[in-house]
Amino acid sequence: MTVQEYLDATDIGGLLSAVDTPMLRAGVVCSSADQEEGVRKIKTCCRACIANCGVIATVKDGRVVKLEGNPEDRMSKGRMCAKGLAGIQALYHPNRNKYPLKRVGARGEGRWKRISWEEALGTIADKLIEVKREYGAESVFCSTGGGGNPEIWSIARFCNIFGTPNWFEPG
Ligand code: SF4
Repeated sequence: MTVQEYLDATDIGGLLSAVDTPMLRAGVVCSSADQEEGVRKIKTCCRACIANCGVIATVKDGRVVKLEGNPEDRMSKGRMCAKGLAGIQALYHPNRNKYPLKRVGARGEGRWKRISWEEALGTIADKLIEVKREYGAESVFCSTGGGGNPEIWSIARFCNIFGTPNWFEPG
């Protein structure tokens, strides 16, 4: 079954829209004689999953205002799922996380404070070193996103350096 047949046969796109962060690849500007002033249509790709569907992004005054499937794409043929169409929210939604947050209240209380990347990485590194010292490297178990994740091998490399063989990719 092709990706497109899968999209046609399921409603998985709607389900997926709630659980991931779509990204768009840098694209090329479409040539169009009748484009509105200040509006550009840019051919790009959705990077929210491995399907990599062709997308046309409409950019008005430097802001993406619309995403639509690119009919020239040989696989998706102009279609996009709900997750891909939600890419605008991944760019601009005010509740999107843009920096590390640290819990300050009890678990579940929902109280957080902003911390620097240095503090976030330092906290994680200190904890990993502590766990390794106390329980051994193999006590750490890592997971990463599916095979469409372009950074899939970085988790394997991390575990290799840390000294644990325990990592997996669920797909
Ligand atoms: S639109 Fe994006 S998330 Fe949806 S199938 Fe295509 S590449 Fe995947």
